[in-house]
Amino acid sequence: MSKYAAGKEVLSYCGKCKLTLTHIIVSMKDVNTIGKVECRTCKGTHAYKDPSSKTKKVRKKSSIPGGRSKSMSVNDLWTQELSKAKGKPKAYSIRESFEVGDLVDHKSFGPGIVQDHVDGKIEVLFQHEIKTLVHNK
Ligand SMILES: [Zn+2]
Repeated sequence: MSKYAAGKEVLSYCGKCKLTLTHIIVSMKDVNTIGKVECRTCKGTHAYKDPSSKTKKVRKKSSIPGGRSKSMSVNDLWTQELSKAKGKPKAYSIRESFEVGDLVDHKSFGPGIVQDHVDGKIEVLFQHEIKTLVHNK
């Protein structure tokens, strides 16, 4: 059961009041997604705006190829991937072979996580940038 349903109260950002206020759910997009809400203060009906996502959204365009996660910076992604990665980092060398998900310790770029294989090379996410590196030579 979803905690949301038409007729229930929810906190939403109101574009007219410019505040996060109690709204009544008017319609649902699906069981877990709120569609429209009615502001109890100005009685206006508008699309639901999650108040918590409003402030966190990073508007800056990320340079991640493929647009994997538009709202995250490379640094955020790196922190997240590093916390998920298991095992000990392998010192980077072009003679080593790396798999997706491997931790790499690069002497210039620091710790990184292998994201992808591209044309026999590896795409590694480092703290400030994504690098394509040669491996398995
Ligand atoms: Zn309002």
